Amino acid sequence: MTKKIRIAIQKSGRLQEQSVKLLKECGLSFSNGPNRLKASCYSFPAEILFLRDDDIPQYVEDGVADVGIVGENVYIEKQKEISVIEKLDFSKCRLSIAIPREKEYGGPQSLNGKKIATSYPNIVRQYLKEQNIEADIHEISGSVEIAPGIGLAEAIVDIVSTGSTLLSNGLKEVETVMKSEAILVSTKTLDPEIQLLLEKLIFRIKAVNTAKNNKYLLLNTPNESIEAITNILPGMKSPTVTPLQQAGWSSLHSVINENDFWEIIDQLKDLGAQGILVVPIEKMII
Ligand code: ATP
Ligand code: MG
Repeated sequence: MTKKIRIAIQKSGRLQEQSVKLLKECGLSFSNGPNRLKASCYSFPAEILFLRDDDIPQYVEDGVADVGIVGENVYIEKQKEISVIEKLDFSKCRLSIAIPREKEYGGPQSLNGKKIATSYPNIVRQYLKEQNIEADIHEISGSVEIAPGIGLAEAIVDIVSTGSTLLSNGLKEVETVMKSEAILVSTKTLDPEIQLLLEKLIFRIKAVNTAKNNKYLLLNTPNESIEAITNILPGMKSPTVTPLQQAGWSSLHSVINENDFWEIIDQLKDLGAQGILVVPIEKMII
C-alpha cells in the first residue's frame, strides 16, 4: 500500500479557509465538514488532520502529522523541534505591544516593572530579554485585549492585523514584536517515501503562490516600440511578439509581477501601447 502524507491544518479559525484553499489549488481534493477530524484525499496520497492551531507544532514534532500549516507566531512560541519548509503568504499579522490609549508611551524601557498580559509568554520573554527589560508576564489564553481594562495588566502583547480590536478596547499599538504569516512546517526526519510526497506538494505550492504574484500581460504596440517595451518588461524571458493584421502593429505577451505593472504602466502608454490586458495566472512553473 502506498504511504500517505499526513497534513495538519487548523480545524476552524483564521488559518482554516486559506489552508484548505491552498491545498485544493494544489490539486488535493477532500471533504471538510465541520465535525471532521480527518479526511482522505481522493487525488493525492494524503490525509488531512483538522486540529487546533496551538496543537499542530506538537503533533508535527511527535510525527503524528508529517507536515502542518501554522502561523509563524505559534511556531516560534511553541519552540518545538520542527522545520520551516515554506512561507505561505497568507494570514499575515503582527504581534504587537499595546497600552491604554490615554497613557503616554516612553519606549520599550517604560515597560520596566510593568505587568504584561499575553498568550505568547515565550516570545515576550525573549523580546524583553533582548531589550533588557524586567517585566512581569501574565499568561492568559484568550481575550488578552481586555486585560488592561480590568486591571490585570498595564500592557498587552497580542496579534494585530487592522488594529480595530485594540481600538474598540481603548488600546493603542506602540511596538511590533514580530511579524507573522502562515508557514508550512514538517517533522525533522521524514520517511523517504513521505519526503518525496512532500517535495511534490512543495512544488505545487510554489507553482500556486508564484502564480498569485504574477500576471499575464497582453498589449498591442506599434512595431517601432517593441524593443523599448521589451526592455522595460521584467518578464520571465523575452516576450512573445505576434504581428497584427493592422500593418505596423504587433501583439505582445509577457508575464510580469503585479507590483511592477503599476510602476511601468505610464511608460507603456507613453510608448504607444494600447489594449493593455492584465490577466490572472492560475499556476506557474518556473
Ligand atoms: P484555535 O482554536 O485553532 O486555537 P485560535 O483562536 O488560537 O484558534 P485564530 O484566531 O484562528 O487562532 O488565529 C490563528 C492564526 O492566524 C494566528 O496564530 C495568527 O498566525 C493568524 N491570525 C490571527 N489573527 C489574525 C488576523 N487578524 N489577521 C491575519 N492573521 C491572523
Ligand atoms: Mg489557538
